[in-house]
Amino acid sequence: MRAAVLFSPHEPLRIEDVETPAVLEPNEVRVATAAVGLCHSDLHVIDGRVARPMPIVLGHEASGIVSEVGSAVEDVAVGDHVIACFVVFCGACRMCRAGRPAMCQDREATMRAPGAEPRLSQRGAEVQQWTNIAGFAEEMVLHRNAVTVIDRRMPLDLAAMLGCAVATGVGSARKVARVAEGDHVVVIGAGGVGLNVCQGAALAGAATVIAIDRSDERLRLAQERFGATHGINTSEVADAAAAVRALTDGGADHVFEAVGVPGLIGIALDATARGGSVWAVGVFGDEAEIAFPAGHLHAGKGVQGVRAGSLEPQKDLPRLVEEYLAGRLELDALAGRRIPLEQINDGIADLEAGVGARTLVVFQPIE
Ligand SMILES: [Zn+2]
Ligand SMILES: [Zn+2]
Repeated sequence: MRAAVLFSPHEPLRIEDVETPAVLEPNEVRVATAAVGLCHSDLHVIDGRVARPMPIVLGHEASGIVSEVGSAVEDVAVGDHVIACFVVFCGACRMCRAGRPAMCQDREATMRAPGAEPRLSQRGAEVQQWTNIAGFAEEMVLHRNAVTVIDRRMPLDLAAMLGCAVATGVGSARKVARVAEGDHVVVIGAGGVGLNVCQGAALAGAATVIAIDRSDERLRLAQERFGATHGINTSEVADAAAAVRALTDGGADHVFEAVGVPGLIGIALDATARGGSVWAVGVFGDEAEIAFPAGHLHAGKGVQGVRAGSLEPQKDLPRLVEEYLAGRLELDALAGRRIPLEQINDGIADLEAGVGARTLVVFQPIE
């Protein structure tokens, strides 16, 4: 099958033949990929900010149709439509047993054992499977817990986006922060994740959802399609935190940092009401350090990290599908260009330039 392979950072992906095993392990499924989204975390590997062994097949938010299941898989069947999501969980560790699969402590258990035939290879040499998914490929061999079966009425191209930006954004607001009816909410950064934090806060009944960004286009999208009630453009407003305090009678209950810039945490705390919370959703570099005045702690404010919106794939992804089919969840405005695998480097260039909405690689119709 064909896949887009990264051989070293800063190089274009190369479309090459890659082999998957002829025989599945008992707990695996084989999926014909329908669509895969291009996401900033993929770009971080391409531009070298995140170091990974090469060659590697990237792509971690995919959808597809199951073509084969391993002998021990009883709850997924050939023909099922699935979302392949990077929250792959072992199902047995302390975190999984506590119903917190996004915190799984034993991801090795969802990979093939060292020495076994790799899930991806070229002429006998292993090719790495990014986040246990590797969706930039016509076919995926995955651990059963990497896939969630969804309603067949769900368009598969849009479904691909649910596993990353939507799950993280909506989950951060609804599941992690537990935004309540009437809350004042601020979202710093109106990209794919930030727009979905706005959407999650609106779905939870927030009274005020203030999006903060440097782009008028994104702020308009946040307000017209994703439930934001206000937009603050930081290239026009010098003190965004003061603007938030003025709009919210003293500060927001929840402020989400969805960019990943350490200095924004201080601004977020300045925009937070006494007793309120700052949620660090953005991906900071591993070496990044965050400093803020300790007085915020005496005001009862907290800063809390967020991991994958605390996604429970088997429970949350079908719910998001249901909400889309019922017309309550915005997805169409998130999707940008649909391109074939051959044009994936154009999509990566869009991502680097920060152009428009989510680019989707769409594969041949398989039904
Ligand atoms: Zn992603
Ligand atoms: Zn686990």
